[in-house]
Amino acid sequence: MSEALKVAEIFGEDVFNDTVMQERLPKKVYKDLKKIIEEGKELDLATADVIAHEMKEWAIEKGATHYTHWFQPLTGATAEKHDSFISAPLPNGKVLMSFSGKELIKGEPDASSFPSGGLRATFEARGYTAWDCTSPAFVRHDAAGATLCIPTAFCSYKGEALDQKTPLLRSMQAINEQSLRLLRLFGNTTAKKVTPSVGAEQEYFLVDAEKFEQRKDLIYAGRTLFGAMPPKGQEMDDHYFGTIRQRIAGFMKDVNIELWKVGVASKTQHNEVAPAQHELAPIYGEANVAVDHNHLVMQTLKRVACQHGMKCLLHEKPFAGVNGSGKHNNWSLTTDDGKNLLEPGKTPHENVQFLLVLTCILKAVDKHAALLRESAADVGNDHRLGANEAPPAIISIFLGDQLEDVIRQLVDTGEATHSLKGGRLETGVSTLPDLAKDATDRNRTSPFAFTGNKFEFRMVGSRDSISGSNVVLNTIVAEAFAEACDVLEKADDFDMAVHDLIKKYATEHQRIIFNGNGYADAWVEEAERRGLPNIKSMVEAVPALVTEDTVSMFEKFKVFTKAELESRVEIKYENYSKAINIEARTMIDMASKQIIPAVIKYTKSLADTVLAVKEAGVDASVQAGLLKETSDLLAATKSALDALSTVTDKAAAMDEGEEQARFYHFDVVPAMETLRTPVDKLEMIVDKEAWPMPSYGDLIFEV
Ligand code: ADP
Ligand code: MG
Repeated sequence: MSEALKVAEIFGEDVFNDTVMQERLPKKVYKDLKKIIEEGKELDLATADVIAHEMKEWAIEKGATHYTHWFQPLTGATAEKHDSFISAPLPNGKVLMSFSGKELIKGEPDASSFPSGGLRATFEARGYTAWDCTSPAFVRHDAAGATLCIPTAFCSYKGEALDQKTPLLRSMQAINEQSLRLLRLFGNTTAKKVTPSVGAEQEYFLVDAEKFEQRKDLIYAGRTLFGAMPPKGQEMDDHYFGTIRQRIAGFMKDVNIELWKVGVASKTQHNEVAPAQHELAPIYGEANVAVDHNHLVMQTLKRVACQHGMKCLLHEKPFAGVNGSGKHNNWSLTTDDGKNLLEPGKTPHENVQFLLVLTCILKAVDKHAALLRESAADVGNDHRLGANEAPPAIISIFLGDQLEDVIRQLVDTGEATHSLKGGRLETGVSTLPDLAKDATDRNRTSPFAFTGNKFEFRMVGSRDSISGSNVVLNTIVAEAFAEACDVLEKADDFDMAVHDLIKKYATEHQRIIFNGNGYADAWVEEAERRGLPNIKSMVEAVPALVTEDTVSMFEKFKVFTKAELESRVEIKYENYSKAINIEARTMIDMASKQIIPAVIKYTKSLADTVLAVKEAGVDASVQAGLLKETSDLLAATKSALDALSTVTDKAAAMDEGEEQARFYHFDVVPAMETLRTPVDKLEMIVDKEAWPMPSYGDLIFEV
């Protein structure tokens, strides 16, 4: 049997997917459930009982002993609480395996320890998980055995969202409704549903587990807090590189098998720019499932890495001096009959619709640039955005030459009459040439790039959930569609009105288009002239969540209430402060318990050497010079350490909130950098044998 056939066989074998449901569920129940999944109706308990029973039987056949509601609290990770299927022991001493509809659709984890940003006063500490039947349940096999995982939303008693999934599902409803309105205007009467499609490319690093264990910074903070760059040239060792590849290849193979089994269509894999850095991309799917799948990808990478004696680092910037990791969030809109609203199209009629969609997106991104940027704000991502390796912190849109030219013609003359690459364009109202898909996207510096039939949002951090960015994309575009439809539905002459609207949007929002080099300083200045926000850090990005425009938009489309947004702001500041506090304390710990003692020992041996050499009657100036240099750096280290301790204590004593987070950002982070500088210099001087932890070279070139 060929490999391909085996893959086809294992793909989705642990998923309670449509095929399984069709096979197992009574016809009526199956039909009801499909309706609920497709149209978002409510599920009655009797139907839920039948589904739960079949799901349990199926899971038990796969070896499952437990089930869990799998949810996404605002910690960035996923959470789960396992319950076994066993019932109370019977009089005969035996147990039954049971799972009710109620247990399937609703859970009540003790939720008081999850971040709620004040939404859930402790007296109503209960949170509820609710089955999201649009994302299929699956059985996961790991050291705990086999567990039936049920994707769920997580809400408070009053229904306030405490998670990443609830707002995402709400935003998908919003974009669905507004997209359908827009399609109807263009005469489409058949589409029943429009769904955002998402494909997330995931970057990650792999390091050797034994070396990882020797670094407290990696253990506690997920990134190195000290570390000098290795000498150039190690990465050129071809033979050595060959060995690396084998170990990684074996890992990737197992990752793929695990992912395929749970229905993640893992498709591409390759080495990334930095040594020890790699990427995995699945085939895109519905936004909600894509977000869940991205969590599965991250968890699987971590688990399989451990099985291979490695550690997978998902942090945005595990190593200073080499590239960090991000996620490219590819986004488009697909109808239930398979049409992509971002496909430029072949006929003038489709072209006009595409142009309206495109200019609505220009408007949405321009208007809500700060909010979109916020959606990618994450503690670790502060090291990437704007650091000339990832997109700049300024939001702009890359359209490519051809589309940009079409927009320019629209702005200048109100009509697009020709295309750049020679294709003949029909003269007429806003028609567009059949655009050649430019597969080789040459602009890697843009944060938001049109790549043929989708937009690629490249700002998201590698460790972050992609949910937040998709919530924002769905909602801001829903708003732009709604505003366009409000005008067009009232228009007497539709063709004329749509033409005017496209021109208006293109004209008013052309400043957001930028095809040039996003890493250049000139762009920063140019963006400022254009009035585009340049928000450099997470703490400065967070306020965008509660501006008047943001709140009214999210409330209008019922994605977030003001209270929910305010709670998220609180949580973000708290998360930021906690993360930096951990990093600062880890540095303090490493510097005082490992680095300074090692350097002291080294100076002692240097001093002994100086004496011995002098005694032998030989010039000891080199040794003495080294001793002086080392001692000076040691003094600098000690004073920076004391300063960091003081400022961290001060930060930790502050009340939680914006002021504290800003203090961590503007005072503690610079103090961390001040400590790092002399330590990294010391690492270059001190005998490698005496240095208390593996070096960058050991970590990234010897996987
Ligand atoms: P590249 O590195 O050139 O961006 P990749 O193949 O690594 O390309 O990743 C592209 C990602 O975009 C994949 O996850 C792919 O499935 C996804 N994708 C392709 N077409 C669409 C679309 N219409 N909508 C959303 N995502 C898409
Ligand atoms: Mg890409």
